[in-house]
This record gives sequence, C-alpha cells and structure tokens, in this order.
Amino acid sequence: MRRIALLGATGSIGRQAIEVVERNPELELVALASGSSDLSELAAAHGIEHVQVGGDLTALLDASEPDVVLNAVVGFAGVGATLWALEHGVTLALANKESLVAAGDLALAARERGGGLLLPVDSEHSALHQCLEGRSPGSVHSLVLTASGGPFRGRSRADLGDVTVEEALAHPTWRMGPKVTIDSATLANKGLELIEAHVLFGVPYDSIEVVVHPASVVHALVRFRDGAALAHLGHPDMTVPISYALTYPDRAPTDVPQLDLAAGLTLEFEAPDLEAFPLLGLARRAGEAGGTFPAAFNAANEVAVAAFLDGRLPFLAVPEVVEAALDDVDGAPARDLADLLEADAEARRLAGAVPVS
Ligand code: MG
Repeated sequence: MRRIALLGATGSIGRQAIEVVERNPELELVALASGSSDLSELAAAHGIEHVQVGGDLTALLDASEPDVVLNAVVGFAGVGATLWALEHGVTLALANKESLVAAGDLALAARERGGGLLLPVDSEHSALHQCLEGRSPGSVHSLVLTASGGPFRGRSRADLGDVTVEEALAHPTWRMGPKVTIDSATLANKGLELIEAHVLFGVPYDSIEVVVHPASVVHALVRFRDGAALAHLGHPDMTVPISYALTYPDRAPTDVPQLDLAAGLTLEFEAPDLEAFPLLGLARRAGEAGGTFPAAFNAANEVAVAAFLDGRLPFLAVPEVVEAALDDVDGAPARDLADLLEADAEARRLAGAVPVS
C-alpha cells in the first residue's frame, strides 16, 4: 500500500488524482486538505480521518504519516507542505510549482537533508524527468519547455487591451484551475515553469528554451550534446503526470488514449512573443537574478492575477504590476523560511500598491 496525502483535493489536479487513486488498489488516500472547500463528503466517501481546510498543513502531515505528498495547493500557500515532504524524505509529487519557484534554494537544501524523491506533476517537468532519467548530466545540451501559447496566441500587445476574464479563462487545450489558466494566458505560467525547471534539474537558464507549440502534444524535449533530442509526446491530459508520480516507477495503466499517428499529426512550433507576453522575460530575469527575486516574481504575479480575476486590473496591467514590484524589492537570498515569508509579504505589499493607469 502507498499512503497518499492529497493537498488541494477539490481542485482540478485533486479531482483527477482521486480518479487515479480509485483505479489503483495499491494507492490509499490517508489525508485530504483544501484551501477553503468543505471536505466532509469526500472524507466520508473515502473513510479518511485526517482532513483539514486551510491553514498550516504540517501537523496534518505529521499525523497522517504519508508515503507520498501530492501537493496541489495553489500558489505560495503550498510552501510549507513542500518543505515538510522534502525535509522528511517523503516522496513529493509536486503540482504546486509556485513553492519550488519561491523557495528554490531552501527546497534543494531540504531535499539534500531528507534524501527523498521529488517527482514533478507539471506536464512539461514530468516529461523532462522521463527524458532525463538515467542520462548523465554532462551529456545534456539543453532543455526545451513547450507552451500552448494560451487563448491569446498570435495577438499583438495592442489586441490585448480589452480582453475579458472569461476570454482569458478559455484555454484551448488544457483543463485546469483559474490561477494556472490565467498564468497560461499571460505566459507567466511558462515563466514559473522555466524557474521550476532550473531548480528541479540544475540546468542553467541560458540552456532552457521555451517554444510555443499550440497542439500541446509534445510536452518537453531534452537536447543532447551529440545532436540528438528526446521528446515526450501524449494527449494533453494531467492524468498521465499525476499517475506517473503516484505509481512511480511502475507506470500504471490509465484510460488516456494512445496517440493515433495514422490519423495525422502535425507538430508546429514557433518562438514566443515576448513583447505581447512580457511575463516570460520578466521570469527569466528574476530567475537569473536569483535570491528572492523568483519569490517576488511569484508573489507579485499572484496579487496581480487575483486582481485581474476580480475585475480590478486590466490584462495588460498584470505584467506592469509584476515589473514594478520586481524593480522595488531587494531580492536578497532567504536564509530560512522566516526570511522567505518576509520577502513574499514585501513583494505582495509592493504589488498591491502599484498605481494602475
Ligand atoms: Mg505545465
């Protein structure tokens, strides 16, 4: 039996994870957490005693003694659970990319001490993990992250002035929660994923490329020094990376269909438009600057996305708020969680105070 703590149980990843657990008799849910949704019905249906809504999740994790923590919390709120799993050497199935972006150095130090597995549940990073497994780091030339381009691919900056929340939430290929869907429309998601890839795989930023691939069939590629590249292909369905992480290394079967190549499959790629979608470039700059700049990028982006979803901020102001906040933070490295919380709070305060024209 593999005991799973599912954090973010009512979100898009959480619901699909429950389907994966129900399919696999060797997986058992032992703890459930959500940010604010009631869990009593779900807990009763699965006979789970360790349940928590909101707050610090570390006591829940201590009490439920999981073998795997599936962290599908949204945003910086997931940091505590990420650090708990890494510190305790408990397998971390990580769907909360924000925690790795914000707490990168602390997370790597905790993983070093804990010695457990860190399995990404982000389609691109799961793909990279699979393409890199068993390869020597010296043989790797570069990583390629693919981006769908989101609902506004092909639009110029001038065409983005009056887009609505509903339009931004209409993602062409992936079914996801609202935060990551808006991040996909601004390309902030790919920026967060760029930093996530750097932290996970230790590859320098100038060796991680982002390309737009509208079909979302190729999830990532690894280029090797001999000129070969390995790509990971599949239908855009989060069931696969969730199942991969929860049943690692067995690759349990799923109900996701195989690719039908004979029916025709055209793979198109293009460069991202950094002028229309400046958050990707801002994330790269924050990542290269290091320290708590990535945490500040993430915090300011969370504030701006929440304001956009509330109708308080136009779409084009989201990157403006993030850029203004990044200009004002000091970005000094965090020595501990208290430092990180302070850097996060400072970036949120600055982002919240940016005047919007
Ligand atoms: Mg992704």
